[in-house]
Amino acid sequence: MSKNRAVFLDRDGVINRLHMGKYVTKWEEFEFLEGALDAVTALAASDFKIIVITNQSAINRGFITEYELEVIHEHMTDSIEKAGGRIDSIYHCPHAPHEECTCRKPEPGMFEKAIGNHDIDVTGSWFIGDFQSDEEAAARVGLKFKLAEGDGGLRRAVDEILNSK
Ligand SMILES: [Mg+2]
Ligand SMILES: [Zn+2]
Repeated sequence: MSKNRAVFLDRDGVINRLHMGKYVTKWEEFEFLEGALDAVTALAASDFKIIVITNQSAINRGFITEYELEVIHEHMTDSIEKAGGRIDSIYHCPHAPHEECTCRKPEPGMFEKAIGNHDIDVTGSWFIGDFQSDEEAAARVGLKFKLAEGDGGLRRAVDEILNSK
């Protein structure tokens, strides 16, 4: 059985604009970064699975419910699909740092779950994030890492990955 390769994507600061210290609590606050939709569309035309991995402590901090997050992710996925892209799966951690869970990045929990669920070939897969802690998470899991920051960042990272095949 051939395993699947994946590009794991962080959400905040990679797909949508990050406003430090502010959480996205409704769809109106979600703003795609420049080139992000194009990047996901380019990925969708490759053989990589596309999996979003996101820390959403806004849930357990009480700023947003699981349902509200789901609605935001439905809108995000719809917009990506309308642009010709695809998201295969989204994993989120609802916990705040003090809860010391095993899923909040840079802990590997969400990645391990996704790797199992989607039969992922770890060494052939990538994580694209915008923080040092994302790079740390990738290293712990054994994924290759690309840093993407701000407008155009995801597009550049995806182009580099697709050109390195
Ligand atoms: Mg981020
Ligand atoms: Zn967690």
